[in-house]
Formats: sequence, structure tokens, C-alpha cells
Amino acid sequence: MFDRLSSLIIALTLVAVAAIFAALAGGDALVIAILTAAGLAGAAIVYGSVPAVRSDPQGTAAPPAEPQPVSLLRHPDFAHWVDQEREPLLGLVDNIVAIANDAAIRLLGRHIVGADIRTAIRHPAATEWLSRIDEDAALDTINLIDFPRPGQRWTMRIAALSGNDRIVFLSDRSAIDAADRMRSDFVANASHELRTPLAAILGYVETLQDMNGDADGPTRDRFLSIIYREAGRMQQLVIDLLSISRVEADRFRRPTMPVDLTLIVKTTIAQLRDSEQARAADIAAKLGDEAQPMLGDEAQLGQLAHNIISNAMKYGRADTPVTVELAREGRRVRLSVSDEGDGIAPDHLPRLTERFYRVDEARSRSVGGTGLGLAIVKHISERHQGQLDIHSEVGRGTRVSVAFPLLPES
Ligand code: ADP
Repeated sequence: MFDRLSSLIIALTLVAVAAIFAALAGGDALVIAILTAAGLAGAAIVYGSVPAVRSDPQGTAAPPAEPQPVSLLRHPDFAHWVDQEREPLLGLVDNIVAIANDAAIRLLGRHIVGADIRTAIRHPAATEWLSRIDEDAALDTINLIDFPRPGQRWTMRIAALSGNDRIVFLSDRSAIDAADRMRSDFVANASHELRTPLAAILGYVETLQDMNGDADGPTRDRFLSIIYREAGRMQQLVIDLLSISRVEADRFRRPTMPVDLTLIVKTTIAQLRDSEQARAADIAAKLGDEAQPMLGDEAQLGQLAHNIISNAMKYGRADTPVTVELAREGRRVRLSVSDEGDGIAPDHLPRLTERFYRVDEARSRSVGGTGLGLAIVKHISERHQGQLDIHSEVGRGTRVSVAFPLLPES
């Protein structure tokens, strides 16, 4: 508490105080001598009880030890965190894999723990990059093309920790690449679909111009009707492209309006009958009068019904019925449309809802199909928590149905 200097001052003060008290007590020489001796004895006790402070004028003594940094890899929470990570993660000490989470072991195998990272991740770009990590720890993300299998892409990042410890992060980009490919395929397909009727229109207009009014009436009429038909095809394609982008944008917005599916399907059938389509008279509706209340987007549900009914009209045989039914199945209502057509071979069924997928391209074009109808149906069905089923028998016909959840109180 006190150093030796301050304890000496305190001791001398005690002697002086003792002497003053002795003088005040009457100035008797014997009393003064006894009290001064007592003061000196007290001072000696105080002085002796305080340890001496060692001086270090040259400053040669070692500074107090600083706490050593603990590498993240050795922190008790690290293994816990690594195990929770879904993406593969490796902890390296001197380029040797010390820690690997489950995802990393699934990707690279259990043998990687204890192995050199360059043998654990066998990829030329990784090997080249990992041989430089000691020079510059802050390296960019690198692409591992065709890793671990052809057609896949992963990225790899490294974080430098204290000492030679490192964390390697691996991330699967294959799904993102597939989505990008789908997007660019879609643009290419849409452009191709638009270019075909456009080329026909330009060709016939040019021919008419070259004929300089010499075309006879029937030829001119035939050319004009082709131009009209191709322009209509383009218009339908643009309408379907806009629809699909709208329903895709709405994908995660659950409908909140109560609607009656019976009324929507009845309205759609009435519109198809009014549209003077060749097979409108073949529609056989078995809808009943009972309301089928559900949460829905009226316009989208109308479009879904329109697309499946008009497919049955397009691909069913002439003069055979197109049966449209509504039936309750517990807490759901099923809309089904059946036709008597050539049917669809089983290997095509899983791909029918892909954009621009057609079983028979020429047939689809000849009946004015765009290849987007069932893709739109699938999106609308998903948005309404519907379950889409396509059942077909070659030579007999097809039944397309969607089951929607009903409102709870119905
Ligand atoms: P499209 O505009 O070509 O009709 P869709 O997406 O509606 O496009 O349908 C995709 C393909 O599925 C069609 O091209 C057709 O080959 C097939 N298809 C759809 N509905 C039927 C059906 N009822 N009968 C037979 N084939 C069908």
C-alpha cells in the first residue's frame, strides 16, 4: 500500500507527535524520553513492515506477458458453428485439413481430414490458387468449373486467420447457372417464336409488293389471310409472354380474395362458346350449381380454365366431347377437363409444363399453340396451392385436372 519513503515520513511524524504530547504532558525529561522512545519504536515497526520497491533504472526487466491470440479454429464455438453451416467449410492448419463440416465430408469424402488441402480439393484452379495462399491471403473467389462433376460449378474462398490457420469456404453455383441458362434459353426461344411468323409476314408483304398490284384476287386474298394468321400468332405469343411474366412475378403472393370457382369456370366456358371456335359446341359441362369458394385471383383462374379447356378442344378428335367437371374431394375441389384425342406418350408427361415444350411442334403450330399454355397453368396452380395432374392414354385421350383447397367454412 505504501512505499518505503512514505512509511518513513509516517514514522517520523509519529516520533514528532509523541514528543509534542510528552512536552504538553508537563515537559518532564523522563516522560519526554519514554514517549520519544515509544514513537521511535512505532516508526521502526511501520518502516520495517513495508517491503522495498526494487528500482529498475535501466528498464531491463521483461514486460508483463500479453495474452496470446487464440486462433478461431481452436475456439470452442468454432466446431459448433462449422457443423451448423450448410455449405462445405474446412479449417486448415499449415495447409492440412484440421476440421471439415458434414457438407465438406459429403462433397469431398471423409479421408480429407488430415490430408493436404491440395489433394483434398483436386482441381487445377484450386491447386494453382492454393499454392499461392501463403503469399497473399486476401485472394479473390475462384471458380471451380466442372467440379466435382462435369457441368457443375463451385466457388472457393479462403479467409486467413492468425498464424497459418485458414478457413476454406466452398459454394455450389450449379443451380444459379442452371437458372441463368433457363433464362437465356427462354429469351432465345421467345425470339425464335416471334421471328418465325414475322419472317412469314415480311415475305408475303414483299411478294405482294413485287407483284405490284398484278396479283389476282384469290392469290392476294390467300396471301393476306396468311399475313393475318401469322400476325394473330404473334399477338397470341405476346399475350402469353406477358401472362407468364405476370404469373411468375405473382408466384409468392398468396391470393387473398374469396372467389367462386364454379362461377369462374361457367364464365370461361361461355366465353369459349361465344368465340366461334370450331369445337365450342363439343364442350360438355358437369359443374353443378353448388358454389366452390376458395381464395383466388379471378382472372388467373379464368386463364387456367381457358388454357386446359382450349387444349382439349385443340388436341381432341373432332366431334368428340370435351368434358369439364367440378367435384368435391374432402376439403378440396377438383377441376378436370377430359378429351378423346391421340393422348400423350408417358415420357413426354413430365416435360409438358416446361416453357415452349411441345410433343408435336408442327401440330401445335397448326392449331395456333404457343407452347406456353401449360407452363402458365402450372404457375397459376402453384400460386393457388393447387395440385396439377395430367393423365393420358395414347390413342384414347387426356385428362388434365387441378385440385384446389376450398375455403374452410364452405
Ligand atoms: P401449346 O400452346 O402448344 O398447346 P401447351 O403448353 O398448352 O402448349 O401444351 C404443351 C404441349 O402439350 C402441346 O404442344 C401438346 O403437344 C401437349 N398437349 C397439351 N394438352 C394436350 C391434350 N389435351 N392432348 C394432347 N396433347 C396435349
